[in-house]
Amino acid sequence: MVADLAVQAHGLVKSFGEIRAVDGVSLEVPRGAVYGLLGPNGAGKTTTVRLLTTLLRPDGGTALIDGIDVAKDPGAVRARIGLTGQYAAVEERLTPRENLSLIGRLYQLPKREIAGRANELLARFDLEDAGDRIVKEFSGGMRRRLDIAMSLIARPSVLFLDEPTTGLDPRSRLAMWELIEELGDDGTTVLLTTQYLDEADRLAERIIVIDAGTVIANGTADELKDQIGGDRISVSIARPENARRAVEALAPLCTSGVVVDAGGVLLSAFIRSGDRVVPQAIRALDDAGVDVLDVEVRRPTLDDVFLKLTGHAAAGDDADDGVAGGSAVDS
Ligand code: ATP
Repeated sequence: MVADLAVQAHGLVKSFGEIRAVDGVSLEVPRGAVYGLLGPNGAGKTTTVRLLTTLLRPDGGTALIDGIDVAKDPGAVRARIGLTGQYAAVEERLTPRENLSLIGRLYQLPKREIAGRANELLARFDLEDAGDRIVKEFSGGMRRRLDIAMSLIARPSVLFLDEPTTGLDPRSRLAMWELIEELGDDGTTVLLTTQYLDEADRLAERIIVIDAGTVIANGTADELKDQIGGDRISVSIARPENARRAVEALAPLCTSGVVVDAGGVLLSAFIRSGDRVVPQAIRALDDAGVDVLDVEVRRPTLDDVFLKLTGHAAAGDDADDGVAGGSAVDS
């Protein structure tokens, strides 16, 4: 194995009956890095994480955690990893302190170490005041924070976070991002799965894009956005009869074709760099005698990436909602 790789997967395959949920996934995560596995609902993210964390046995391919084969020595792998799933796996009838000591005991840590570690984690995850309250009363964000604290009790070498912010309100989502950033700053190796480009963009040094069980792209956020042609510009014009002239004025500034929509008054396309190109676009439209009502520029969304990479929009019933809420405006 390569000494500084915490996670190595090669050609992982997992089928459920007819469904090939993971279809030859290869990926590597260097020690101390935060990487993102990005894809829509049903892309195979959770199955990949379950293979890497020994919860499922691969049908094919290999996976190593710290150089240890997940299929050959799952016990040794489990001792080195932490996993937080999509649904907080906390025991509702217990307090955070009791939840933490339960997990500490499962890891067979000495009693005194468990108590110290629990205090440390409660403080770090902003749960000190709530440490002795029953979890049942907690908000989703508090539960998720406790869940991550629990997965850290045995100081894992690699932490897997499966959709850590799905279902959280915006404020808890932001708090969770800050927490994951701190973990990254402390040198914890993290592989997180997400449906949100802005989340991967903010947290992950490198993003592995997965669709239908296959890795379709792997790069930094900037590299992915460059692949899809930069930012998306939308221009509303006053009169549809000017649409052709507007397209001709915009086309030389765009990295994609200009699409005309909404009865000929809404034009959209990709541009390399919003800051630089927007003033030029407005000037070009003005020179062409086109009355412009509104210009909007935004970073690409997951849907944009998918459309470009796969030729189809991100699948899944609620994918659109999640992406619109997460990526369209604030990335
Ligand atoms: P989500 O964001 O919805 O969790 P995902 O990217 O994590 O999506 P997976 O949960 O890995 O996707 O699912 C990949 C495919 O495998 C889906 O078609 C799913 O229905 C199927 N699948 C996953 N687990 C099982 C299972 N235990 N039995 C049958 N099919 C499964």
